[in-house]
Amino acid sequence: MFTSITARIAAFGALVLIALLALIWMLVDASIQTRDSFRWVTHSAEVIETMDDALVALREAESAQRGFVLTRNASFADPTDARIADARQSMARLVRLTADNRAQNIRARDVQALAERRVTLLRDTLEQARRGQFDAARGSIAAGTGRDLMTMLSLRADSFLSEERALRITRIAAADSRLAWVRQLALVGGPLLALAILSISLLLIWGIRQPLGLIHQAMTALGRGDRDRRVTATMGSREFAQLAHGYNAMADQLQAAIADQGRSAQDLQAAHAQLLRNSDTLQERGEAIELLGGMAHRMQAARTDEELAQVIRVFVPRVLPGVPGALYAHNNSRNLLVPITGWNGFQPREEGFAPDQCWALRRGQSHFVAQPGGDIVCSHVDADLLYHCEPLLAGGEVIGTLYLQGVVQEESRFRLTVMAENISSALVNHRLQRGLREQTIRDPLTGLFNRRYMQESLAIEIARARRSGAPLSVVMCDIDHFKRFNDEFGHDAGDTVLQSVATEMRSRFRDGDIVCRYGGEEFAVIAPGATAQALAARVEMVRKGIMEIVLRQGGRALGSTSMSFGIASWDDKMAIDGSTLVQAADAALYRAKREGRNRAVIDLPAAA
Ligand code: GH3
Ligand code: MG
Ligand code: MG
Repeated sequence: MFTSITARIAAFGALVLIALLALIWMLVDASIQTRDSFRWVTHSAEVIETMDDALVALREAESAQRGFVLTRNASFADPTDARIADARQSMARLVRLTADNRAQNIRARDVQALAERRVTLLRDTLEQARRGQFDAARGSIAAGTGRDLMTMLSLRADSFLSEERALRITRIAAADSRLAWVRQLALVGGPLLALAILSISLLLIWGIRQPLGLIHQAMTALGRGDRDRRVTATMGSREFAQLAHGYNAMADQLQAAIADQGRSAQDLQAAHAQLLRNSDTLQERGEAIELLGGMAHRMQAARTDEELAQVIRVFVPRVLPGVPGALYAHNNSRNLLVPITGWNGFQPREEGFAPDQCWALRRGQSHFVAQPGGDIVCSHVDADLLYHCEPLLAGGEVIGTLYLQGVVQEESRFRLTVMAENISSALVNHRLQRGLREQTIRDPLTGLFNRRYMQESLAIEIARARRSGAPLSVVMCDIDHFKRFNDEFGHDAGDTVLQSVATEMRSRFRDGDIVCRYGGEEFAVIAPGATAQALAARVEMVRKGIMEIVLRQGGRALGSTSMSFGIASWDDKMAIDGSTLVQAADAALYRAKREGRNRAVIDLPAAA
């Protein structure tokens, strides 16, 4: 009931209005009643006065009549009539005035009737006197009828008057009490009403100020930054409960909006940080790509295995700084991973390792141990090492592995991946090139260098010998009676003989010597650093070795063979393209043939 403050104010206003109206009505009513009471008091006074007037007029009429009768002076007669008229008028008025009070009215009529009888008597006596019958008139007076009537009338009038006076007293008392009631009503009702208005107003003001204060406190706290502040106290009225609810909802929304804003700012910061990281990554990748591009370019341009190894040695430490490691690649027979090169102080295992010793090669995927016990350790690695093996793949085939000591950080993986791809393609490319080059410089039947390569190499070696002053010798070799194999066993058998002799020669000469098939069944060997005499000793070994070859083709024995050799050494008078040197060796060979074959002849300048 009255949960709303406006309903309370309206009810209070209505109550005050009703109380005020009631008070006014009571005051008006009381004053009307008081006025009526006083009217009745006045009425009683008027009744008494009228009765008195009537009695006085009657007595004066009586005394005037008596004066006339006694003095016979006619001047007394005139007032008698006037007083009688007055008396009769007053009596009639008295009857009228008491019309509202039946008992008093009866009494008044009674007195009026007696008065009428007295008046009749007076008039009769007065008439006698006027007619001059004064004695009769005196007789009438003396009879005492008039006096008796007056006595009776006085008695009745007294009774009437005493009743009327009593009435007047009662009426005065009633008027007094009404007056007192009005006073009381004014004195008590007014202040009481004022007190009630004041109390209820105070209650209403408190009912407004208390919740307003709470909401104000909460708003001030919110304004100072206390975003958790809510209005939880009971508000006491629906309007303020709604206001508090509205405030709380607003504060919730504000808090949510601020939290949202905070989250957005965080997201923005995170996005910004991510952007910076991405930009750093992009820059880092750009630099890595540039570096790796340079490395790839050099690797593609490398002509020899050593050049390739050099490029790798120089660039890998730049691409992965501070990470020691080595590059292993499959050998030709693909049964071993042989070291190509190592870097940052790492010495690769010279003997290499079998492909199944490496998990990266087995799985064709990166394999690493980044923490002790983190994964299976490859058996080509020491057990307690942290390391990373990156397989080198080309066309889906594993061609080698990059072994890296330590942990390759996540941010370096991109560099590692690209570098591994570059090295793979460089290795493949290098091998292809080497294969092609081999084809152009090797003789397909025997695998020895061909004549063109021999001529190129001879020119280079002559230039080197001229610079260094070191000796340089050449051997020209020719299989003795080779035509016979062709003739006896066929051309294929001849080829087999050529291959067997070539193998023997390659194994007998030193690594630095360049063994070539010069043409047909003729061979040439360039021996840098060797004098003709020193070379002759080795040639002698070769000659004997060739004689000992048991030549076979399939299951067929082809017999044995021999070889003639012509040895010549470089001297400054010879042509720098090597033609003179070859001619000299050829001449020596020719001599060896002439001298019976299966021998070596040295083309000594002194002998020439
Ligand atoms: P000599 O002892 O005088 O050197 O006698 P020869 O028979 O070895 O020499 P000749 O020059 O008379 O014969 C060389 C033969 O070698 C001629 C040629 O048919 C043969 N020949 C050359 N090249 C090849 C080859 O690639 N394969 C085979 N089967 N025979 C070849
Ligand atoms: Mg020949
Ligand atoms: Mg020959």
